[in-house]
Amino acid sequence: MTNCLFCKMVEGDIKPDVLYEDESVLAFRDINPQAPIHILIIPKTHISTLNELDDTQLAGQLIQTAAKLAKIENIAADGYRTVFNCNAKGGQEVYHLHLHLLAGRQMTWPPG
Ligand code: AMP
Ligand code: ZN
Repeated sequence: MTNCLFCKMVEGDIKPDVLYEDESVLAFRDINPQAPIHILIIPKTHISTLNELDDTQLAGQLIQTAAKLAKIENIAADGYRTVFNCNAKGGQEVYHLHLHLLAGRQMTWPPG
């Protein structure tokens, strides 16, 4: 997708602070962190929202990457939150699927 911010990161035109990359997913630090640790995990293929995700293997890779990064970032034992925001009422702003990994502070419930 030519006009997609996260596709530009996958293609190397924009360089985020990358923490992990393999053939399917890319993980990088959020530019506007909502917690001391805030990482985004994205598929390398353009998928607009969770509604369009029909690849169970890719879904597993996104979630397992979050768990892997939680261990690397030493937040696995203390705890963390993972979030997919979907469409307008879900608070989605970037329309390339991404999994938020947030940690380093006490999370509250219900979320805003
Ligand atoms: P969402 O509201 O779920 O679509 O989340 C989009 C996230 O992308 C927000 O947390 C933004 O701070 C983050 N974001 C936007 N632009 C960039 C960027 N250039 N590098 C890293 N994260 C970004
Ligand atoms: Zn994209």
